[in-house]
Amino acid sequence: MQNTSQKVYSSLLWTIFGALGLGWLFDIPGWGLALGLLVWSIRQLQQMHRLQHWVLHESDREPPEGDGQWGLIFDGLARLRKKTRRREKDSRAVITRFQQSSAALQDAVVIIDKQQNMEWWNRSADRLLGLKKSSDLGKPVINMLRDPRFIRYFRKGNYEDPLQLASPVDNDITLQYHITHFGQADRLLVARDVTRLMRLEQTRQDFVANASHELRTPLTVIRGYLETFLDLPETNKPMKRALEQMQQQSQRMESLVGDLLLLSRLEAGQHTAEERPVKLHAMVENIVEAAEVLGNHQHTFNTELDSANDLLGHERELHSAFSNLIYNAVRYTQPGGTITIRWWRDEEGAYLAVQDNGIGIESVHLDRLTERFYRVDEGRSSSTGGTGLGLAIVKHVLARHGAHLEIESRYGHGSCFTCHFPADMFQPIRQPQAEVID
Ligand code: ADP
Repeated sequence: MQNTSQKVYSSLLWTIFGALGLGWLFDIPGWGLALGLLVWSIRQLQQMHRLQHWVLHESDREPPEGDGQWGLIFDGLARLRKKTRRREKDSRAVITRFQQSSAALQDAVVIIDKQQNMEWWNRSADRLLGLKKSSDLGKPVINMLRDPRFIRYFRKGNYEDPLQLASPVDNDITLQYHITHFGQADRLLVARDVTRLMRLEQTRQDFVANASHELRTPLTVIRGYLETFLDLPETNKPMKRALEQMQQQSQRMESLVGDLLLLSRLEAGQHTAEERPVKLHAMVENIVEAAEVLGNHQHTFNTELDSANDLLGHERELHSAFSNLIYNAVRYTQPGGTITIRWWRDEEGAYLAVQDNGIGIESVHLDRLTERFYRVDEGRSSSTGGTGLGLAIVKHVLARHGAHLEIESRYGHGSCFTCHFPADMFQPIRQPQAEVID
């Protein structure tokens, strides 16, 4: 730039001195200077015009040739143009590679802008989601993927867990949707075809359900015979002890089979009955009665129940979940311990908490407690008659009611298991209508 301005000044000086010199020769220095400056200015205007013309109409061609400072400017522009071209080429190559790789992706990828419109998608999205570039580009994603469950998921804004749904173009394809936030309120939607995984999962579920079902009949027969043998007068004492142990173990197997069957039914998404308002007080009182027997009446039970609500749900499933929590409290609390069952609500929903001052659980185990057959202490769990499936059942039942389980525990001090139900799962009890007297 400094070179250019030096050139401008030197060409101007040369013009002034040259014009003055010539003017003196003819004895008209003033006219000579004026004429020289006029010619210099016309020359500058011409070059400027060429530059303007190139910028506006011919920027894709080489810049024009120029002399003096204009030569430097045109050369600079030519260099800049080459650099820009190179960068453009590089960026185009990156974009092409990105497009090629995203087109090769088996997953559908959709970019959604902050107005919730679809800005771009790859080829798999055409196939799996039925999107068409010609008609759908720039349209709101919820106009194209209209399943209410997707709309709820999309609007929720919390995408920690994926959503599984049938493809909008083919019911036989199961898609798993993941959404990620990026940039300024933009979203990236990835839909993966998990049909094969689902089929495998289905096979596993069917196997567990069928095996459990098949085990039921032989177990019933064995238990029947054991009872008969135990009642026989000729059964001696050592025989009786062995038979009693066999009876205990077959009882355990029966509960295990029962829990496995319930769990596979829950996993398969089959509800055991219709959803209706459940009388929660009666249910809790009923479970507490059974729990007192289970604990040989050696525990103190407190119940603090909000009176205003019935819970909307599936009675048998909820009974199973709550009884698992309350029986666990009995099984993992030493005799003389206290178990408190609270039911309350706030603006965010309703809660059922089962608190005990029993053995408690070390924090390392808390995250894994609801896994099937996960036990903190194998020996103690078996001796308490647990199947290792109780909390897995609780988790599944709650998930199917849109609820979740929160676990707090201090080793050696006790635990608190809280079921958190969303606000739409409980109904206010209808107040009797006041009689209108004319
Ligand atoms: P289990 O049939 O073995 O009780 P669960 O799934 O019901 O299986 O519970 C998993 C594990 O969580 C149990 O083995 C036990 O170690 C622990 N646990 C459950 N409830 C309590 C509780 N109230 N206090 C202490 N530990 C508990």
